Amino acid sequence: MSRRILITGASVAGTTTAWWLTQAGIDVDVVERAPAFRDGGQNVDVRGNARAVLRRMGLEERALARSTRERGTDWVDDSDSVVARFEASDSDTDSGPTAELEIRRGDIARIVYDAARQHARFRFGDSIARIDQDDTGVDVTFASGQRARYDLVVVAEGVGSATRELVFPGENVVRWMDLTIAYFSIPRLPGDSAYARQYNTVGGRGAVLKPALDDKLGAYLGIQKKPAGEHEWTSDQQRRFILAQFANDGWEFPRILDVMKEVDDFYFDVLRQVHMPRWFHGRVVLTGDAAWCPTPLSGIGTTLAIVGGYVLAGEIANATAPAAAFARYESMMRPFVDEGQDIPKIVPRMLWPHTGIGLTLLHGALRLASTPLLRGLINNGFARDASKIDLPDYR
Ligand SMILES: Cc1cc2nc3c(=O)[nH]c(=O)nc-3n(C[C@H](O)[C@H](O)[C@H](O)COP(=O)(O)OP(=O)(O)OC[C@H]3O[C@@H](n4cnc5c(N)ncnc54)[C@H](O)[C@@H]3O)c2cc1C
Repeated sequence: MSRRILITGASVAGTTTAWWLTQAGIDVDVVERAPAFRDGGQNVDVRGNARAVLRRMGLEERALARSTRERGTDWVDDSDSVVARFEASDSDTDSGPTAELEIRRGDIARIVYDAARQHARFRFGDSIARIDQDDTGVDVTFASGQRARYDLVVVAEGVGSATRELVFPGENVVRWMDLTIAYFSIPRLPGDSAYARQYNTVGGRGAVLKPALDDKLGAYLGIQKKPAGEHEWTSDQQRRFILAQFANDGWEFPRILDVMKEVDDFYFDVLRQVHMPRWFHGRVVLTGDAAWCPTPLSGIGTTLAIVGGYVLAGEIANATAPAAAFARYESMMRPFVDEGQDIPKIVPRMLWPHTGIGLTLLHGALRLASTPLLRGLINNGFARDASKIDLPDYR
C-alpha cells in the first residue's frame, strides 16, 4: 500500500517506526529538527511489551548491557538517612519504581537509531514548514525549502509537536500535571549510593539522584506548582529559575547546583499530557508523545513509544488502505495509552508536599508502602500493565 513514508522526529518513537517499516520493504525518510541526533536525557523505564519489541528487533541484549544497574530507590531525609527503601524489579513486567531495564533515554534512543539508520535515510536540521494532502499522497515543504511527496507521514515529534498543530489545529486537550522538572547529569563521587536517593523538602520541592553509567548520576529536580509558561523560556532562564528555587537548600543541592550551571545535557519541562481525540487525519498519523504524552510521572512513556512504533509500522505494512491501518493501530493502542495516562493530579501534590505536616505524612506512607506485604498489594492493585497488548507478530 505505502511505498514511501516520511517520519518526522528521530527519537524513540520515530526510530522504532522507521526500523519496522524498512523491515517490510518500505522506503523511509526521517527528518529531525535538531542539527544532530539528540543523545541527552536521564533514566527511562522499558517494560513488558516494549521489552518484547526490542527482543524481536534483536536489540534487547544491547539495551540490557547499557542498563543503569540501579539497585532500587531510597527515600531519604535531611540527614540523608533512609526513610523507606524499594528494591529494583527483578522481572520485565514488575512495576516498582526501578524497572529491570532502566536505561538512559539517550542510550535507548541511540541503540534503536543505530539499527534504523542502516535502512532508513535520516536528515537533521530540518522540519516540516507546510503540509498538504489529497486522496493519493502528502505534499511536504520543509523549512529548508526542499519539497517532496509521500504516501504517508508519521509525526513522532514529542509532546510539543509543531506538525501536529499544523494538521490537527487546536485539537490537543493539554492536561497540565502541575509539576516542573529539570534533568541533567552530575559526576558520581566514590561514596555515592547504588540506590537512587529521593529527597523532598517543603514548598513542593524535591530531587532525585539516580545512578547512571560512565561515572555519572542523573539529577532530577522537581517543583510542584501550576504552570506559568516556563517551558517556553530560554535554557538560561530555566537554569536561573531552578537555581533560585533551591539556592538556600542543604542536602546535596550545593553540589548539584554547582554543576548545573555548566552541564550540556540540561533538559527542562513543564509536565503536560497530550490528549488527542484522534491520532490520524487522512494520510498523516501521530505516534509516541506527539499522540499521547503520558509524562515521566507514568513511568511508561518510552514503553508506549516503542510499542506504538511497532504496532503502527506493522499495521501500515499489512493493510491495503491507510484508514484501515491507522484505525487498527488506534484501537490497539488506545486502552494501553488510557491506562498510562490515568494519573490523578493529586499524585504530584502528594509526592512533592508543601508543608512539614505533608512531608511527615509522605514519609509515614512510604514507610508503610515499602513493607513487603503492602509493596505486593500496591504493585498488584494499582500498577500499570506494561504488557497490556497481545502483541501481533508482524514479522
Ligand atoms: C533530549 C531529550 C531528553 C529527554 N529526557 C528525558 C528524561 O530524562 N526522562 C524522561 O522520562 N523522558 C525524557 N525525554 C522524553 C522521552 O524521550 C519521551 O517521553 C519518550 O521516550 C517518547 O519518545 P518520543 O520519540 O515520542 O518523543 P521525544 O523523545 O520527545 O522525541 C521527539 C523528537 O522529535 C524531534 N522534533 C521535535 N519537533 C520537531 C519538528 N517540528 N520536526 C522534526 N523533529 C522534531 C525532537 O527533537 C526529538 O528528537 C527526553 C526527550 C528528549 C528529546
